[in-house]
Amino acid sequence: MRTPAQIPAIAPKSPKSSDSSENELAPQSTGTYPPTRQPKPPQSPITERPIYTESARTVPRLSAWVESAAVDLHEYQGKELFRRVGIPVSEGRLVVSPEEARAAASSLGGPVVVKAQVLTGGRGKAGGVKLAETPADAEQKAREILGLDIRGHVVRRLWIEKASDIAKEYYLSITFDRGAKKPLFMFTTQGGVEIEQVAEENPDALVRLHLDPSEGFQPWVARRLVYGGRVEDPGEQKQIAAIVELLYRAFVEFDAMLCEINPLIVTPDGEVKALDSKFTVDDNALFRHPDISEMRDTAAADPIEAFAREKGVTYVKLDGDVGICGNGAGLSMSTVDVVAHVGGKPANFCDLGGGGSAQGVVDALEVITRDPQVKSIFFNVFGGITRGDEVARGILEALERLDMSKYPIVVRLDGTNAEEGRALLAKAGNPNIHAEATMLDGARRAVELAR
Ligand code: GDP
Ligand code: MN
Repeated sequence: MRTPAQIPAIAPKSPKSSDSSENELAPQSTGTYPPTRQPKPPQSPITERPIYTESARTVPRLSAWVESAAVDLHEYQGKELFRRVGIPVSEGRLVVSPEEARAAASSLGGPVVVKAQVLTGGRGKAGGVKLAETPADAEQKAREILGLDIRGHVVRRLWIEKASDIAKEYYLSITFDRGAKKPLFMFTTQGGVEIEQVAEENPDALVRLHLDPSEGFQPWVARRLVYGGRVEDPGEQKQIAAIVELLYRAFVEFDAMLCEINPLIVTPDGEVKALDSKFTVDDNALFRHPDISEMRDTAAADPIEAFAREKGVTYVKLDGDVGICGNGAGLSMSTVDVVAHVGGKPANFCDLGGGGSAQGVVDALEVITRDPQVKSIFFNVFGGITRGDEVARGILEALERLDMSKYPIVVRLDGTNAEEGRALLAKAGNPNIHAEATMLDGARRAVELAR
């Protein structure tokens, strides 16, 4: 599914994706990235961006990773948040069985639309959105859609909504443009299709407009979007402008990273409303929103990531076979990149955090070894607050408590108490532990051992 990380990249296709030089309202490009005709550098498995060895380049990768830790809400949940701020949506019910679908349809009255609630877009094309004329028809359509596999997402819940008549389909969204350090509105009257397609085939029809967060929302922002999109009907102009303001309110109030309405429809009577919702909330702000925190669909997430969350381990599953554990997001991410750089495939991103305790190390190893793809594990620790002896103790403890016999563990310890840590590991004399002095050697060794 499309993540917010990819949205600002719509127009610029090069590694300049964090730079909005194609937007006349954005600051000019500094032009420091290599031109695209140079050979393509290896891609970071986390951000799918090129890997650069300069340390300055870790900054955009870090932010992109943080984005991937966001919480995606289902359509019905996003619509609930829309409703709370006053954005018009249709009445509907959440159901989990064909019988419930029938009951929901008869209580709503009239034709309904039966919609798969899965965390991926393009449900319509995949057969996950169907109109039903009668309650019996709704039951039948529910039977067809429940259990459907839409790009790996199995449908377990349905949203039954009063069907709308559609005269026009527009598109409206707000997201962060990290390059410009501002929220970015996008609006087009060419809605209903994937926005990337509009950006590619009909870029003039897509209005992009940044909002200065220190100024906050100004009515001219909405007017500029609406006029820029050449909406001519005054009734539509007014309603869309109001929705733009409400969408910004939802974006700020719920600490969102993306609020997208596609399609934003106009009915034959000229009424404008949100027919779909894509809502992504910054998970760092969840403590402020206990209700949204409960909306998080853990069943839809990766089971190892869900287990990691339970254990309090910062972990992102990747596709390779070298398990990785670092301390601090920056070093952990660099470790992922270096492993990829020396030809390996990282199995995960895992950050012990600062002040990592032995228990934290055991927990991290328990999470990493749940992934059946893992063949070797690379510990890359630069002690600051984190102490090398504590990490070593954690590794030895994990070796005692978990069945780690099939994993070669490469350890690179540096910084605070690194010598003590190395001495502890040497004393243990476990043949599965391989000490390396540098990050690069450690990565090479771990990749070799995974073969
Ligand atoms: P997506 O395919 O996952 O983006 O799901 P949407 O919620 O956007 O629905 C897909 C398409 O189904 C929309 O673009 C509409 O064309 C159509 N659709 C959804 N709800 C209704 C409705 O109430 N009435 C009609 N006529 N079409 C609908
Ligand atoms: Mn849609």
